[in-house]
Amino acid sequence: MIQVDGLHKSFGELSVLRGVSLEIKKNQVVAIIGPSGSGKSTLLRSLIHLEQVNGGSIRIGDDYLVRDGAYGSGTEIKRMTARMGMVFQHFHLFPHLTVRGNLELAPRHAARKQETADVRRNSLELLQKVGLSDKAEVYPSRLSGGQKQRVAIARALMMKPELLLFDEPTSALDPELTGEVLKVIRELALERMTMVIVTHEMSFAREVADQIIFMDKGEVIETGTPGELFGNPQQARTRAFLGLA
Ligand code: ATP
Ligand code: MG
Repeated sequence: MIQVDGLHKSFGELSVLRGVSLEIKKNQVVAIIGPSGSGKSTLLRSLIHLEQVNGGSIRIGDDYLVRDGAYGSGTEIKRMTARMGMVFQHFHLFPHLTVRGNLELAPRHAARKQETADVRRNSLELLQKVGLSDKAEVYPSRLSGGQKQRVAIARALMMKPELLLFDEPTSALDPELTGEVLKVIRELALERMTMVIVTHEMSFAREVADQIIFMDKGEVIETGTPGELFGNPQQARTRAFLGLA
């Protein structure tokens, strides 16, 4: 689905991604784990072009977002990023729009010719899917963190992405609210949605992911199935991170 090759990213003198290569296969769930500051968020943000990389390639099929550090035109970049959705730790909902308004803003803008009725039907369907049908006309400030995050997931799904990126979707939530968000992600996994999830929740990564990627200091140190990576890590740094050293 998406192929990353030799990605480099620096902020000034600080080298944050140092030759990251990985592949995310269609219909797979990949969890990225690693210490704070290892570049996990920067990697996700680079995939959806919230950060511009200094080198390397990001490719979906035969289409490049960036090829050997060179980006295409604005139109090409938009076409690529439209194939992805992202869910952030702190939700990033628009506070001045209702829940339904949050869901419908981008699709209305993107497809002006599309029937308004289609967008509305889609938003109501997705709110039902995340268990928030009764909150359509409510403003985000009236929602719990778990509800906000479920709205953010529904909003990302409105654009029918091929790939969904999550950056620590539950780490801003109280433990009793994480379950409802994990349930939605688990259901998407069962529907074979292609997802990349940065998480500090090892038990969730183990349960939901087909593949785990361990990053440290801007590099991919080890990748494997949950069984391999958690059960029999090959690298000393992975073992240390998992507390097995
Ligand atoms: P965490 O688990 O704490 O979220 P992370 O693995 O997501 O960490 P990143 O947020 O990708 O790590 O950050 C990697 C490094 O890049 C850190 O040292 C961070 O301070 C630095 N960094 C990130 N964004 C910027 C920025 N916009 N400007 C300067 N430095 C940045
Ligand atoms: Mg991060």
